[in-house]
Amino acid sequence: MKLLQERIIKDGTVLPGNILKVDSFLNHQIDVKLLIEIGNEFKKRFTEKRITKVLTVESSGIAVATVTAINFKVPVVFAKKGHSHNQDEKLYESEAYSFTKKQPYVMKVSKKYITSMDTVLIVDDFLANGEALKALIDICHQAKCKIAGVGIVIEKSFQPGREKIEKFGLKIESLARISKMKNGKVFFIV
Ligand code: 5GP
Repeated sequence: MKLLQERIIKDGTVLPGNILKVDSFLNHQIDVKLLIEIGNEFKKRFTEKRITKVLTVESSGIAVATVTAINFKVPVVFAKKGHSHNQDEKLYESEAYSFTKKQPYVMKVSKKYITSMDTVLIVDDFLANGEALKALIDICHQAKCKIAGVGIVIEKSFQPGREKIEKFGLKIESLARISKMKNGKVFFIV
């Protein structure tokens, strides 16, 4: 997605540890116009599937999931991180290792909101080592729902995430695929 690539080049900052900071338009301040274009692009790329829910993880996935779900006219479900206050609620749980925080965390989704009747599109802002996606896929497997595919805004293709997710046989659509980040510059797979 050219518009997104241009914005990453203009406003993205490369931080140590292969982290791309996109706080000015995606992760802290949100450029809603760009986000709506992102949602429209996912709708174009997943037209063939009968999607009933868009699943993501809090917090940075929520905005992306929302602009996507509005196009499919379906709800967003976001996995919550950490401990639940409502101990009675029946939950799917899966553990992931955080790329940015360098620590494990648990993702939880209420069993009320994903069932075996659902066809789920998973979306997230970034794909790095694939840990967050692996946990979301695991939750879908626990729910025995169908997975329509995976939509990623920014994929760091030099990290092993895509390879891990492809092993599940899922379609992955990434709107910007970064081949390398060097001397503060971002290079894309075209
Ligand atoms: P993974 O689980 O694939 O290793 O990492 C994906 C998650 O880590 C995403 O949900 C995202 O929030 C965060 N993340 C990974 N790499 C980056 C990055 O370069 N920049 C930002 N802002 N977040 C990242």
